[in-house]
Amino acid sequence: MGKKGDALMGKLYEILFGCRHVHLTFPITAGEARGTYVVCLDCGKEFPYDWTQMKIGRVA
Ligand SMILES: [Zn+2]
Repeated sequence: MGKKGDALMGKLYEILFGCRHVHLTFPITAGEARGTYVVCLDCGKEFPYDWTQMKIGRVA
């Protein structure tokens, strides 16, 4: 299997087991209204990031 097959297997894994969100971007600050968040590079989901606790906050 080539690269395309690997990507397909990854997608299948996500569908079957859900994304574990292990590959996250560095926290992005989007301004007062949105605050700071990180984005999962695998599924594209955004998570609020709490600077005061230095961890990912509750998923909205
Ligand atoms: Zn994810």
